Amino acid sequence: MFWWRICKDAIPTFAMLAYRRLINHQRCPRGCSDTENTNHIIIRCGFIKKVFKLLEDWNFDIPEFNSVDDCYQVLSRLANSNPFLGNLICSVIYYCWNSRNQLVHGGCADSRYVIAYRAVIQSISSFKNGLIRENWDANQLFKLSKSSWLPPPPGWIKVNVDASIFPNNSTDIGGIFRDCKGRGLAAFGFHTIHWDIAQMELLAILSLRDHIKDWMLEAKGIVIEGDNLNVINIFQNALKKNKWIHEEFLNPKDLDFLHNFQHFIFSFVNRDCNKLANFCANYAHFSSFFWDDFSSRGVPPSILDLLKVESSCNN
Ligand SMILES: [Zn+2]
Repeated sequence: MFWWRICKDAIPTFAMLAYRRLINHQRCPRGCSDTENTNHIIIRCGFIKKVFKLLEDWNFDIPEFNSVDDCYQVLSRLANSNPFLGNLICSVIYYCWNSRNQLVHGGCADSRYVIAYRAVIQSISSFKNGLIRENWDANQLFKLSKSSWLPPPPGWIKVNVDASIFPNNSTDIGGIFRDCKGRGLAAFGFHTIHWDIAQMELLAILSLRDHIKDWMLEAKGIVIEGDNLNVINIFQNALKKNKWIHEEFLNPKDLDFLHNFQHFIFSFVNRDCNKLANFCANYAHFSSFFWDDFSSRGVPPSILDLLKVESSCNN
């Protein structure tokens, strides 16, 4: 619907609203000194340029286009040659507009990292048939499939977390940190007792503060991924609105440790993409652990096999 409106030049940009005398200015709300028209929101806006630049840093080969017509031509070419990339460009432009609307309506806009990451995830989920494409890393092939674990952007780390809940208030929490090539960096698991099941998935994320090491802070950013949609939503919404609307669950100070990272993103995945975190949680049933050397003898071979499968590295 958004793209249909763009084609009809029917997006309520400030230029359009001013033309209809509904507002008395036309400047881009993101602070560009330019008129906000359709051309601006697709190509000229300084913010969208930053998002495309970021995707280039993540090794996506974003083609240049200088006008809306140019953009249509690029997209129509990509429809045959690289539909994934075409879909990614469309998603970026859509999410930028969406976020611009939040800003205009009194909310807080998403960062370019959140938009770029979300657009990649969205585009991947649009290609359900397991297309193989070169992605984040030009040397690494992985399956673009809804059921595969996806590596974080280059230079970032990703941590998957999970909680396994048993009768009689027993819970095991586990997580695994990986780099952009899917290599295991560290894994942890511990046993605890719960009084409230809803809180356990929250605890899984909050427990990261005890397992993040100084060397991890060198990363360009961290993606925190879990398979409980409600919990991920709580964190995402709290960050987006820049206020803690779920204070009955969370104290803002609880997440101070994440601000040591340059950037952090919360991401939801289905259970199939969270198998290793689930494995760590189940393994913690026997005893608590923290591994940061996957070649050491204490690490069970089954986790190494799972790592290989999930990283989809063909080397
Ligand atoms: Zn702008």
